[in-house]
Amino acid sequence: MYKNISRIYRPKLFSEVVGQEPIVTTLKNALKMGRIAPAYLFCGSRGVGKTTLARLLAKALNCQARNSESEPCGSCSSCLEIAAGHALDLLEIDGASHRGIDDIRQINETVGYVPARGPYKIYLIDEVHMLTKEAFNALLKTLEEPPQHAKFFFATTEPHKMLPTITSRCQRFDLRRLPAEAILAKLKLIAKEISQEVSCCIEESALALLAQLADGSLRDGESLLDQMVCTLSEGSGPLNAEAIRKALGLPPQELLQQLDTAYQTGSLSAALELVEQMENSGTDLSGFPEALLQHYRALLACHLVGAPSWILDPATRALYRSSATHYTVSQLLTIVELITRFLQHPPRLSLRSLMVEALLLQILKTRSQLALPVLIERLEQLEQQLKSPEAAAPVKAPMEPAMPPPPAPPITATLPPQPAEAAAPTTGDSKRDRARLESMVQFAAVTFDGVIKHG
Ligand SMILES: [Zn+2]
Repeated sequence: MYKNISRIYRPKLFSEVVGQEPIVTTLKNALKMGRIAPAYLFCGSRGVGKTTLARLLAKALNCQARNSESEPCGSCSSCLEIAAGHALDLLEIDGASHRGIDDIRQINETVGYVPARGPYKIYLIDEVHMLTKEAFNALLKTLEEPPQHAKFFFATTEPHKMLPTITSRCQRFDLRRLPAEAILAKLKLIAKEISQEVSCCIEESALALLAQLADGSLRDGESLLDQMVCTLSEGSGPLNAEAIRKALGLPPQELLQQLDTAYQTGSLSAALELVEQMENSGTDLSGFPEALLQHYRALLACHLVGAPSWILDPATRALYRSSATHYTVSQLLTIVELITRFLQHPPRLSLRSLMVEALLLQILKTRSQLALPVLIERLEQLEQQLKSPEAAAPVKAPMEPAMPPPPAPPITATLPPQPAEAAAPTTGDSKRDRARLESMVQFAAVTFDGVIKHG
């Protein structure tokens, strides 16, 4: 029978759990000391190991030969039954589909019966936040005074939706999203076995990209690897990052680099060329804005913390560090805002390529925009000039402190003149110049009312 990777490689021991060491230590100590609470709540985003930990705790609790490290033996009847998924004393309930009061009433009616084999009868309710308010209230009755042999394990992605009266009766564990390095380490172990099985090479760059795309969820990483293994066939080339990008319809890294170069040179026509390239190469345009957002998130990380921690491939990291110098922090923030707004209102299918072109154009045009603080400073200087033309210092273009701003190469014909040039200092002598300055300051005062500090 086919089993997916995440099921085959699901941890069978506490020592195999990835990235949740403090929680594992606490649970093992609780088992050693015999201090097992009546209810546990495992919280965290998808694929971080909530139900896996709950099952392991159940296994260790009912194991007939638990070792001194609190690990379940894996070979007694209870361990074998739990591993096979038909243990009588571990009742797994899906809170999403059994969310009503009647479902909880069934638990309340049977909770008093002694366990069939092991010392404990364990109820594991997944997605427990989906229970109705009435169901929670019915559960509360049992949680207040549970029988000695009954244990409740809850797993949820949204603990804030649970009644506080329930959560206060649980020992709560918040599982963290896994760092990309931890996911990569596990994927490497799996890939080593799989590549022998399918006699094909899985490159490290491929695993690094999968760990990045998993976005903190080990299960997502394993599912992606499972999917990619199916693209391999006898005699096919090695599985590398570009092959994965192609299979998943992601834009090639090269294309994103082209966009950064277009930004540096101010070439607006690149917006149309890039969309055409994507359409010709089969890149999924509906997923492109999301990929674009991740791209700019990585560039922003280069400015703020030196490098994006989730990108593990050294060559890709170096590319990002180099591309980041084409942007300033405020330009990147404006771009991220543009893409986020786009993602909140995705266009209709028929308009998709047109709207993606427009989005790329908007991104490229941010190159010619000045940050608001810079604009305000310039207007203040202009205002000073109006009041006392002789005393005013010449208007200069203030720079952003975080990173050196992109060099100002000659702008191609399609790009409007940079505001730096548009707002060039005037002599202020002629009446025409003075009138122009006055109207500019008036316009700015209305536009940025409340923002500009009038000296
Ligand atoms: Zn056992």
